[in-house]
Amino acid sequence: MPTTATAAILREVNEPLTLEEVQVADPAEGEVLVRMVGAGICHTDATGIDGTIPLPLPSVLGHEGSGVVEAVGEGVTDLAPGDHVVLTFGHCGDCKYCNKDRPAYCEMFAPLNYFGTRMDGTVTMSQGDEDVHGCFFSQSSFSTYAIALATNAIKVDKDLPLELLGPLGCGIQTGSGTVLNALNPSAGDSIAIFGMGGVGLSGVMGAKIAGCEQIIAVDINDERLALARSLGATHTFNAKEHKDLVWDIMGVAAPGVDFALDAVGTNEVIRQALEVTRSPARIATVGFQGLQHDITIDQGHLLLGRELCGVIEGDANPKDFIPALTRHYADGEFPFDKLIKTYKFSEINEAFEAAHNGSVVKPVIVFD
Ligand SMILES: [Zn+2]
Ligand SMILES: [Zn+2]
Repeated sequence: MPTTATAAILREVNEPLTLEEVQVADPAEGEVLVRMVGAGICHTDATGIDGTIPLPLPSVLGHEGSGVVEAVGEGVTDLAPGDHVVLTFGHCGDCKYCNKDRPAYCEMFAPLNYFGTRMDGTVTMSQGDEDVHGCFFSQSSFSTYAIALATNAIKVDKDLPLELLGPLGCGIQTGSGTVLNALNPSAGDSIAIFGMGGVGLSGVMGAKIAGCEQIIAVDINDERLALARSLGATHTFNAKEHKDLVWDIMGVAAPGVDFALDAVGTNEVIRQALEVTRSPARIATVGFQGLQHDITIDQGHLLLGRELCGVIEGDANPKDFIPALTRHYADGEFPFDKLIKTYKFSEINEAFEAAHNGSVVKPVIVFD
């Protein structure tokens, strides 16, 4: 029997989401039905709404869900009704990099996260005879009920604030994971992080956990920089107030930082992230500015042992990494809740506006 749910539907690019009744399918083999409790809003949802990522319509977005398992499909043995779960990105669990504990580079990443259907082409949501595309990031968690895969539903302790945990599945995992997994600084190292959105601020928290001695945060918003300082940044720079930002950062970081993280993605910022590093160094770029986005960098600068890499989802294996983040949170070392402002489901379009205008770092929808 399908489950009746209320979902936020995207019918046209650049239109507000509309809350509508949908039928959610029973969980098929390897799937779980989740009653959603919370869902974070991430930049990737906004790029679905504005058409930067082409999606089949009508579609239900939402890819940072948290909730309670309601039912499990055939073959699901590690989850049971009543379990608390955080939903993360879809991955097949069986390809070369899934088997190397690096599921962010799953061969099936695009179909499992962006195609809007199961791998067999069927949909998980419908309205009568009309298909509603409900497999966004193998979840579509802007809905009171959603279907996920058992592989992307990560079990978490029941004593944690479940309604706030969704962003651990994407944005917060991306920032902290890029630092802890992809850059992997040692205690005493230095890092510069550009862009204090949810990803960059999570990077600051990750750098603090890693024991970085110097954590340089860059943004154009003083409130965000103050938040970065409260989370562990040792130096902050408002890029608007520095004619030569690289020179001024070098003033506190000569001969350059060991690591840099770009969470903006513009050519200017990627170059700055490269130019504030010492030799050798590792620089990660995760800011998304569209599927085709040419940049120019100075090869001579790169040649001196500097590595520039792109990172998806913090190169995390969510099965281990999300529980690790919740343990850091419980220990008071990872206060990601400082980034969050909660909204009712009926306020979802206001929540998107707050993310867009920068007044809120991480809006989270809390379902009644
Ligand atoms: Zn895979
Ligand atoms: Zn995301």
